[in-house]
Amino acid sequence: MDQIKIGKFIASCRKELGMTQAGLAEKLGISDRAVSKWETGKSLPDSGIMLDLCGFLNINVTELLSGERIMAETYDQRAEENLLAMKHEVEEKNRQMLRLEYMIAFPSVIAAFVMVFIASFVEMPVWLRIALIAFAFVMLFSVAFIAVGIEQKAGYYECQKCHHRYVPTYWQTNLAMHMGRTRYMKCPECGERSWQKKVLTKED
Ligand SMILES: [Zn+2]
Repeated sequence: MDQIKIGKFIASCRKELGMTQAGLAEKLGISDRAVSKWETGKSLPDSGIMLDLCGFLNINVTELLSGERIMAETYDQRAEENLLAMKHEVEEKNRQMLRLEYMIAFPSVIAAFVMVFIASFVEMPVWLRIALIAFAFVMLFSVAFIAVGIEQKAGYYECQKCHHRYVPTYWQTNLAMHMGRTRYMKCPECGERSWQKKVLTKED
């Protein structure tokens, strides 16, 4: 999606109606800074406000996301393209988050091993050994908590029984048995327990 184009389109629709940024902001119950950010392409309207915005501007959501008015004939195709683009964006964001999980977890696991190794085999006072090992464990635990947090938020888990996709709670994720990112959890839809795979999108 082209945020700059969308921004220009919002601005031109607003001007056609003879509204100021402040006027539109007031109608939507938001700050005029937010409107200015949309119009300069710095951000997109939240999905929660999109329908109201489209209502005021006399356009539909597909037109808003395309950044132009659309003829009826090409409408379906555009709607589909936009849906795909949005899905792709969500997928990419989740993929990046999962990459971040590795980037945090992998070096700290290595660092912890190195610390425990040094504490075990290098000459040093006992208190230092204990401190090193304790530090390694605290670090591993903290990183594990952060990593699970990222994993829980990025994408969905899919039930193997009914293929329902959902986001479990943090503790459900953290306490579940797991192999890599596949976790043994109870599905909220069918209530069955199964090994649930991480997937990036809500639908196939
Ligand atoms: Zn299920």
